[in-house]
Amino acid sequence: MSKQKITVAYGDGIGPEIMQATLDILIEAGAQIETEVIEIGEKVYKKGVSSGIESSSWDSLRKNKVFLKAPITTPQGGGFKSLNVTTRKTLGLFANVRPCRSYFPFVPTHHPLTDLVVIRENEEDLYAGIEHQQTQEVVQCLKLVTSTGSEKIIRYAFEYAKAYGRRKVTCMTKDNIMKHADGMFHKIFDRVAREYPDITAEHMIIDIGSAIIANRPHLLDVIVTLNLYGDIISDIAAEVTGSVGLGGSANIGNTVAMFEAIHGSAPDIAGKDIANPSGLLNAAVMMLVHIGQNQVAENINNAWLRTLEDGIHTADIYNQDSKRKVGTQEFAKEVILRLGKMPVSLKPVSFKSEGGALPTIVVKPQPKTKKELVGVDVFIDWSENDKNPTALGDKLKTLSGDGLSLKMITNRGVMVYPEGMPETYCSDHWRCRFVSESGAPVSHTNVISLLERVMNAGFDFIKTEHLYTFDGERGYSLGQGE
Ligand code: NAD
Repeated sequence: MSKQKITVAYGDGIGPEIMQATLDILIEAGAQIETEVIEIGEKVYKKGVSSGIESSSWDSLRKNKVFLKAPITTPQGGGFKSLNVTTRKTLGLFANVRPCRSYFPFVPTHHPLTDLVVIRENEEDLYAGIEHQQTQEVVQCLKLVTSTGSEKIIRYAFEYAKAYGRRKVTCMTKDNIMKHADGMFHKIFDRVAREYPDITAEHMIIDIGSAIIANRPHLLDVIVTLNLYGDIISDIAAEVTGSVGLGGSANIGNTVAMFEAIHGSAPDIAGKDIANPSGLLNAAVMMLVHIGQNQVAENINNAWLRTLEDGIHTADIYNQDSKRKVGTQEFAKEVILRLGKMPVSLKPVSFKSEGGALPTIVVKPQPKTKKELVGVDVFIDWSENDKNPTALGDKLKTLSGDGLSLKMITNRGVMVYPEGMPETYCSDHWRCRFVSESGAPVSHTNVISLLERVMNAGFDFIKTEHLYTFDGERGYSLGQGE
């Protein structure tokens, strides 16, 4: 087998120590890899590169397509961009995969049967980073969800389940509240699930889903979800296994993939040879399966399980039942000594049926829909008349005309005009909905002349959102009470 070139970054803090230990195990186990080292993180940030990664390093990543990354230290203070977010977005690493498994009784947990995988959309949602302060009181953060991004991650989750012999995929959203954004994710999940009849598909609202992860995680297998929910539940899931320090994760794109431990650079214990290299080792095992070196991955994983079982533990997991406390490099040596051995009480892993990277996820374009403009939400910054909605509504009503008329005003989503409750708190941020009088489509010219009338009446309009239908279906939410 020819050697696979991989890009390696030793990172900051404990990074160099755990990377050395990991690579020693990989090489001793016969991994056919050749490393190309790049520098990322603190030193690069300090050179004034705000992304923490130099342009020559991108060339290495794009050429080798496989990246084993040790944790880095993000300098305190503004002006530094998150290297992880930059890497994910630049290289299109759309899927974050985090297996969470219990190693009970060797690692204490209340949930010894946990064996689940969180597959999280990695590029969209509230992480688009589009935020604006619009009034004295109100800041907004846009949640962007695309149909293509959603379908890609959902297909990936089913392909993953198929390749790894998993039986169930659970989709978690909050579509009882976000009926359009999360609703689209859920609908696409239902459509894609029909193509995988051998895999059970179910949906849970994210709040009850999180509660089940925390209390009955053995009920779950593969979970697919949007970016923010995934970020949160993948930490809950790692925590309930008792093994945050042992977890690895993969960030997968259609061409490049990055593998790393889930913990950070632990500057408090750096340079002491006491860090646990298991998180990075588990990430490296995922990497070996990704590049098709399944047998080596399996040997390493089983030798590592055996080391845990034999009570050879680093300080972070050392307990009264441990046999020997070892440092980073000694732990690696103990794993190497056990290569070829199987765990006795923990379930051994078998990667035989798993063959390399999953197929490229292709999302076919959906048929074009007919998009029609039927109104506009004009957002206004207003705090006169003790913020009395009737005063605002009565003034705006006189600006109706030219095909568009004021239908309602909401404040923080709740209708306050023409009807509302005096108890509703009103901020200075008003959503004023003007809709087509006849029900027929309106034009951009109608919207522009409405805005002109709003401006001439002395109102500060801060943004507009067009109201569209798609093939006649409403593409916007109703106000509470509308
Ligand atoms: P951390 O994960 O580095 O450390 C949290 C605690 O866990 C510390 O007490 C640490 O000693 C311990 N710990 C972590 N990994 C360990 C290991 N392998 N073995 C034994 N103990 C371990 O989180 P933090 O302290 O919040 O962050 C430190 C730095 O890491 C920050 O600069 C942060 O930005 C960065 N960070 C980087 C990544 C990454 O590169 N992917 C991820 C998270 C945090």
